[in-house]
Amino acid sequence: MHKALLTVLLLFFTSLTILAQQPKKQNTSEIFEAVQKLNVLGSVLYVAAHPDDENTRLISYMSNHVKARTAYLSLTRGDGGQNLIGPEIRELLGVIRTQELLAARGVDGGEQMFTRANDFGYSKHPDETLEIWNKDKVLSDVVWAIRKFKPDVIINRFNHRNPGSTHGHHTSSAMLSMEAFDLANDASKYSDQLNYTEAWQPKRLFFNTSWWFYGSQENFEKADKSQMLNFDVGVYYPQKGLSNNELASLASSQHLCQGFGRMTSRGSQQEYIEFLKGDFPEDKSDIFSGIDTSWNRVKRGKAVGDILNAVELNFNFRNPESHIPDLLKAYNLLQNIEDEHWKAVKSKSLKAIIEACAGLYLEVSANGPTISSGSEIELNIEALNRSNTNLKLVSYTVSTDKAIILKNIDLATNQKQNFKETVTIPTGMEATAPYWLAEQGSLGMYKVDQRKLIGLPETPRSVKMDFELMINNTPLSITKNVVYRYSKPDKGELYRPFEIIPEVSASISDKVFIFETDQQKEISVVVTAGRNNLTGQISLEHPEGWNVYPNQQKVNITNKGETQTIVFTVIPPKFQNEGYIVPKVTINGKNYSKEIVEINYSHIPFQTVLMPSKSKIVRLNIQKRGENIAYIEGAGDVVPESLQQIGYNVVKIKPEDITAENLARFDAVVVGIRAYNIVDELKYKQELLFNFVEKGGNMIVQYNTSRRIKVDKIAPYDLSLSRDRVTDETAEVRILNPNHELLNFPNTITEKDFEGWTQERGLYFPNEWAAEFTPLISLNDKGESPKDGSLLVAKHGKGHYIYTGLSFFREFPAGVSGAYRLFANMLSIGKDNINLNKSLND
Ligand SMILES: [Zn+2]
Repeated sequence: MHKALLTVLLLFFTSLTILAQQPKKQNTSEIFEAVQKLNVLGSVLYVAAHPDDENTRLISYMSNHVKARTAYLSLTRGDGGQNLIGPEIRELLGVIRTQELLAARGVDGGEQMFTRANDFGYSKHPDETLEIWNKDKVLSDVVWAIRKFKPDVIINRFNHRNPGSTHGHHTSSAMLSMEAFDLANDASKYSDQLNYTEAWQPKRLFFNTSWWFYGSQENFEKADKSQMLNFDVGVYYPQKGLSNNELASLASSQHLCQGFGRMTSRGSQQEYIEFLKGDFPEDKSDIFSGIDTSWNRVKRGKAVGDILNAVELNFNFRNPESHIPDLLKAYNLLQNIEDEHWKAVKSKSLKAIIEACAGLYLEVSANGPTISSGSEIELNIEALNRSNTNLKLVSYTVSTDKAIILKNIDLATNQKQNFKETVTIPTGMEATAPYWLAEQGSLGMYKVDQRKLIGLPETPRSVKMDFELMINNTPLSITKNVVYRYSKPDKGELYRPFEIIPEVSASISDKVFIFETDQQKEISVVVTAGRNNLTGQISLEHPEGWNVYPNQQKVNITNKGETQTIVFTVIPPKFQNEGYIVPKVTINGKNYSKEIVEINYSHIPFQTVLMPSKSKIVRLNIQKRGENIAYIEGAGDVVPESLQQIGYNVVKIKPEDITAENLARFDAVVVGIRAYNIVDELKYKQELLFNFVEKGGNMIVQYNTSRRIKVDKIAPYDLSLSRDRVTDETAEVRILNPNHELLNFPNTITEKDFEGWTQERGLYFPNEWAAEFTPLISLNDKGESPKDGSLLVAKHGKGHYIYTGLSFFREFPAGVSGAYRLFANMLSIGKDNINLNKSLND
């Protein structure tokens, strides 16, 4: 059901999203809007913590109604969340969410910035957040964002005054923004940044409040609003045929991996911002009150403004080309203003407007999507002037080559010019993968040392072409990234970013291998050639105590893009032990240990990510009973694959196939995370499942959120879910019932099995349960009361019902051995004698 809904949404947004991957082609309305925006010299920076925190209504209003230069600073890229559209988690999820933010800004007209802070998962208090993040580094990145973007106004999404009331990342974002406001103009602070930019003092800072922060609409109506500004963010844009709030919904619907696809809304709607710092605005209807946002703001700007305001006033919608002479005049005058910041910002916009007015089409497309350094590419260049303006292509230069290729060709009206160039990518050129993943970071921080990269949403493209043009005898240079353009019979024309990849990459089939006995396993490594005629060797690095055969094998691949699968035999030690295997490919004395991960969704550009290639190997001391497991899918977890790894036979069963006969084939049923939140049909299947338990089956239900439960009874006995969670993955585990069968059969579970857990202990624990349930462990975060509901078991008829909010879905992919042992016990409980279901079947 949920998947179907997403598909519909994806189809609905196809027109918007496919265009998002293509170079922008502006129509007259958009050119006019760009001219309007060109004449506003004011800027707003919106600050929050995660992709989806941002209030797109306000960002869109500032960008499209106020016409301010508007940006969203998201401190993190959202790595810690869950993915509703595919298998990517952690870093790869951060890559998707980065692109979804860019897609959202493509709709609402904002720009996008980041810090090096990593979304490490939920934290209850900013104290914890700022300890795991490097507070000073994140603060310096917020200061850096302010100094680079130079906002007049900053708006925080969250309240800095109520730590503990929301995600610690949220409160931290507001606290850091408050601090950075005071530091950005202090040249003695983070002074190394001043080699690249200037100190800057924003004029004022607000908090984007709403009734939600007051508990109710009523309370908010009564609240003192003397320090607040408000705007009707439901304004209508006739040029777009859309209301601002409609546009905002389209923008936030780009966050599809978070399930944010939503309906649009229209009509008057008030948005409030509370003044916190700086100069209080004299005119409360104007966020820029007291700031001159006209061209007069900059020295020698008036002459530029005189021309551009006239263009705006007399804009010719039938023939925007007629403005080119004036736009060029303004462009030349703009080069004389002293304010380097506005000169750079406005020159870029003005150039794009001139290009669009001339209907100028410049594109450089490679003959393939990827290349490795040292190899040759063929570039196809298209230059077309679709106006009557006098336009000459003087020369072009490929950024990796630097040779100026003279053309001196008149671009006659609508006469396409095509050129081909063969270019060799210099050896040693770095891959174009996401820069923040190039080096191993810490739990809370990405490692980025290159100052100029910090905060950028994406890695700047390294293969570009600079076109030198003469328009009406005015020289103008325009830069285009090299792209890969292709078509598919069932999709039409498609674009992909052009990427530099390593000459070889290697990936191991799984991220975790569990050895539940001392039997050897065959592990395959897929080697992919990034160039033709690749020869070399491959070995598999492994921890001590393990054996790998053969030691080394030959790599021999003729064509770029082809793969070779190489199989190693891995022999585990006798006793419990774990570590990592890493493929090492050696080509001409150079070692490679990275894999390429491709991410392909239609609402974002194709992503090529370079990740360290490694897999965890775990020799597990584990016993188990039962054999056949039915798995009911929820929001997506790797529990089925993980149970298969330890030798269970797992069958995914669709809601419509849940019948008494079908269930009789299984020893246990496992319910995927949040299944009761998203699968409507389960409402009609609960009784069948409880009957299955009565007859001797085991039923294991993983966490569901406490709101929007689609079943009347989640368990055969009373059980109420709460929002209790334990986010510290090292929180002490107190075993309440050490003699309970679940903790002793067939594996003896001790505190040791809770070592090495990752991200959190668990979430949405029940806080009330019927007497039939036995709580087994007690946990809590620092300073909180004990939470005893993370693992509850009840005997029901001949079987067992188990509810657990423990985060097995996070621990399995990380190969945490204790999690496997505990889960095996949950599946095995009550199965010590005969297997009732199996005997029924035989
Ligand atoms: Zn958030």
